[in-house]
Amino acid sequence: MAKILDGKVFAKNLRDELKGIVSILREEYGNVPGLAVVLVGDNPASEVYVRNKGIQTKECGMRSYEHKLASTVQQDDLLKVIKQLNDDPEVDGILVQLPLPNHIDSQKVLDSIDPEKDVDGFHIINAGRLATGGDALVPCTPLGCLLLLKDHFDELTGKNVVVIGRSNIVGKPMAALLLRESCTVTIAHSKSNNLEEICQRADILIAAVGKPEMITKDFIKKGAVVLDVGINRIAAPEKGPGKMKLVGDVAFHEAKNRVEAITPVPGGIGPMTIAVLLRNTIQAACNRRAWKCDL
Ligand code: NAD
Repeated sequence: MAKILDGKVFAKNLRDELKGIVSILREEYGNVPGLAVVLVGDNPASEVYVRNKGIQTKECGMRSYEHKLASTVQQDDLLKVIKQLNDDPEVDGILVQLPLPNHIDSQKVLDSIDPEKDVDGFHIINAGRLATGGDALVPCTPLGCLLLLKDHFDELTGKNVVVIGRSNIVGKPMAALLLRESCTVTIAHSKSNNLEEICQRADILIAAVGKPEMITKDFIKKGAVVLDVGINRIAAPEKGPGKMKLVGDVAFHEAKNRVEAITPVPGGIGPMTIAVLLRNTIQAACNRRAWKCDL
């Protein structure tokens, strides 16, 4: 029987642990970490993410700041807001919700965030630090995957890992994190030849593609551990006309009979992301303020 790696439970336990750390920080230092989230425009999905981030930040005992800007905001005005947050000593973490409107250069905006407050880990300095084995703030989704893997395995050293997807947000930082754990890492992508064969060699298979259920059981070695990062909204006629449902990149129902462990979608990697964002905010605060904490 495959073990279902329950990201909801893991994230809840992580948030409880972080709450404990925040309350120790309050006692020891008389202050708590603060997270500022910047939302540009009125994309409904982004609004939900930002609201959830604010709620969970406060539930964890930290300070939460929200900055909402119109979709027509000029890039220079957005950069001014980020500068103010960079200069504000009470702000430990800054997150700019993506995607940004087309007239704004997203990478320029991300690179204007103080790297020490870059809790999404997307700044080029943090990407470089991660790639070269330095102390970095690491993107939340791949770090969540690593925490799940560390919880499941006693030892990651020497494991054959295949990461499918080479984005800067998931695939590349995931591979860098696993290299740091002394895994043997292969990154596969849309131009890889013999994808099925490459995946069959994996002790750990991580799918971050964005293609509904493309990883069938034929891609999976018997007894592998599979993390499904993909979130795809597809039609669900079985639920009624016009209804939709979320599926991952892995064909879960057939894969689960082949694996040692697997994350479901929804309820796997997805719930980990905000919990790890809170963890990164605490880490950023402790680094900046020279607070001691046990992360
Ligand atoms: P992306 O579109 O930036 O990258 C997708 C990657 O998949 C690319 O590197 C591409 O080379 C590869 N790819 C595309 N088609 C392929 C194919 N047929 N075979 C092999 N590789 C192929 O996407 P992303 O931002 O990395 O996100 C990937 C998925 O993860 C999406 O479904 C996204 O919604 C999801 N995601 C989830 C979370 C979360 O759980 N919180 C966070 C980020 C992304």
